[in-house]
Amino acid sequence: MQLNLEEAREGPVDLSHRFSFDASRLERPELLALAPVEFRGRLTKSEAGFIVTGTVRFSGSVACSRCLAPVTFEGEETVSWVFSPAPDPKHGPSQEEILLGRDDFDVVHYREPRIHFDPFIEEELQLEIPLKALCRESCKGLCPTCGIDRNSATCACTPGEDSRWETLKVLTERKPR
Ligand SMILES: [Zn+2]
Ligand SMILES: [Zn+2]
Repeated sequence: MQLNLEEAREGPVDLSHRFSFDASRLERPELLALAPVEFRGRLTKSEAGFIVTGTVRFSGSVACSRCLAPVTFEGEETVSWVFSPAPDPKHGPSQEEILLGRDDFDVVHYREPRIHFDPFIEEELQLEIPLKALCRESCKGLCPTCGIDRNSATCACTPGEDSRWETLKVLTERKPR
């Protein structure tokens, strides 16, 4: 989505866009599916430059961090950015530096009034995709030895059994007392 800040010179502009992000491009291996992200907002002129405010609605599914079963998530977040002209247009930072240089107030310095808006929504999305999701609080996970889903099946493996520790135990037992 291209955002043209100049459009708000004469008055506020309503924004509405549906972003279709490729789930694999977000580099979150736990992300299984991502529905199109809905953005609704408003672009207004301010003393500092321009302000974008709005809401981002998203939903999708991630793999349970213990058993890999799909866990759905959805949410709605309010977002806002202040777009302020870069101090020195002749020696201003690159587009990348503009993005990296964003401070806590989400002030974005721009040189060109046409802004590629997708990265801003993508960054918000990265914060909203759950980390270490669980299908349920009591998820038993996969057996580390045979890989069976311990929520739905049981295996003969001894819990915590690991050949390395077995070896250690044998060595300990061999020690003369
Ligand atoms: Zn699970
Ligand atoms: Zn097992």
